[in-house]
This record gives sequence, C-alpha cells and structure tokens, in this order.
Amino acid sequence: MKKYLMPIIMLIIFEAVAVTLWLTKDNLFYLLNFSYIGCSIALGLTLYIKKYKYARRITQLLVGSYMLFYLGVISNENMQIEGFWYYLFTGVFEAATIHYAVAKIFGPLIFGRGWCGYACWTAMVLDFLPYKVPLQPRKKIGWIRYIVFVVSLIFVSALFLAHVGNIETIMFWAFIVGNVMYYAVGIILAFVFKDNRAFCKYICPITVFMKPMSYFSFFRVKCDTNKCVSCGKCKTVCPMDVDMTDNSRKRKNGTDCILCFECVKSCPKKAL
Ligand code: SF4
Ligand code: SF4
Ligand code: SF4
Repeated sequence: MKKYLMPIIMLIIFEAVAVTLWLTKDNLFYLLNFSYIGCSIALGLTLYIKKYKYARRITQLLVGSYMLFYLGVISNENMQIEGFWYYLFTGVFEAATIHYAVAKIFGPLIFGRGWCGYACWTAMVLDFLPYKVPLQPRKKIGWIRYIVFVVSLIFVSALFLAHVGNIETIMFWAFIVGNVMYYAVGIILAFVFKDNRAFCKYICPITVFMKPMSYFSFFRVKCDTNKCVSCGKCKTVCPMDVDMTDNSRKRKNGTDCILCFECVKSCPKKAL
C-alpha cells in the first residue's frame, strides 16, 4: 500500500474539500465536482505508479475537458482569470473563486503546479503538439504574463465601473473568446519557439498566482545526491527547463515544475 500513498493522500485532500464545501455551501455540486477531480487525479497517479505511459495525459483529459466543456461551455462558469475577478468583485465565493483558491492560489502550497500538469484545459491541447521538450533555449520574455494579468483585471474593473449590464453574458463570451485566443497564441508560440509549453512560460497570467505559491510547495521533485551520477538525462526530458538536481527552493525554474515526473522516469539511478 505504501507505494500508493500519493494517490491516497490526493484523494483524501480532494474529498475533504468536497465534503467541506458540500456541507458549508449546502450544495451537492461541490461534492460531485471535487470528488470527480480527486478521483481523476488519484487514477492518473495510480496508473503512473503502474508505469502506464499516458497516465498523466488521462487525468489531464478527464479533468481538463470536464472543466472546459461542462463547467465552462454548458454551465456558463467563466473559469478563466476574468471569471475570477468577476466573482471576486461581486463578493460571491462560488465556483470560479473556489476553483482559484483550491487549484491556483492555496493548493500550490501543497501540490505546486500540479494543476498545470494534470488539469489545465489549455495545456491539455498544447501537450498534443510535437515539442514536448523545448528545442530552443528559454527566452527572457516572462514579463508578458504580468501585462496579460493586469489587462484582465482592467477589463473586468472597467465593466463594473461603467455599470455595464449583462456582465454575466459578457463573461460567458469572454470565456469562449479568451479560450480561442489562448489556444491560438499557445499553438503559434509552440511552433515559433519549438516548445509546447511556451505559452505557460511566457504568457499565462495565472502563473502570477501559482509561481510564488508553488515556491513553498510541500510536494516537489528532490534529488538523492548520493545516487546521482550527474549524467544529465533528467534535464533533457523536462518540458519546463527545471534544474531538478538542485534541491534548493531557489533552483533554476523551480516554480515552473508541473510534476509531470518525466525526469523521475528517465533517471537511470532512481535518484529523483
Ligand atoms: S501555465 Fe497556464 S496555460 Fe500553462 S498549464 Fe498552467 S494554467 Fe494552464
Ligand atoms: S538522470 Fe538521475 S543520475 Fe542523471 S543527473 Fe539526473 S538525477 Fe542524476
Ligand atoms: S520533468 Fe521533472 S522537474 Fe521537469 S516539470 Fe516534470 S517533474 Fe518537474
């Protein structure tokens, strides 16, 4: 049972959130929603332990498509960053704000950028592209994410300040248009920079929340320096350019780790 500790812990965490929100909000949706996500993550981790090649991708498709199509398109929940601002301004602690609190603001203190590896519907598509490992050096344009972050905040603030009617409808269309733009920019950047995750590294505004929180992440890849022979194989398979052989929290691109475990799988000495 010990080797299944990780999926069990994740399942317990998500069930705790599911039951707590169900009872405090008196809404069965939260029980079903977080149970589904917790089970999907636990399934992916279990398949990973059983060495199934596409374990992470299965979880990513199960959670990402559920959030995009069911929550976003069918249930009209804007789960993009604009939706977070919108619900925050209305003072409603409901789906989008809860989603951000759990997955992107406080959750990363426990599971780092696990959202980016196992649940994001943008990366769900980008990970189908051919550049799973970047073929070019990292660019120094990560500042773009802060501009996108501020623009999203200004956009929603302006709607409130101008007392625009039908903000709910605008939010729905902002979700649709925003996603189309994210996919278009993400795919173009992946081919320009020969890197599937270029959008994540330079553009995504959500990383403004996730990077500082995941710095303190409880779960992180660590290197047993007694076993490591410095062959460098792990670094050649990392989609996020992380120096996982450095155990310090300040390691290179450490807050970009998406816990995909490609480095762990590649290590011939089982040092990670
Ligand atoms: S960085 Fe943004 S786009 Fe990339 S996986 Fe994370 S949330 Fe999704
Ligand atoms: S693959 Fe393993 S042995 Fe090689 S550098 Fe990485 S951690 Fe060390
Ligand atoms: S390959 Fe390793 S260090 Fe790189 S993102 Fe995946 S888990 Fe993190």
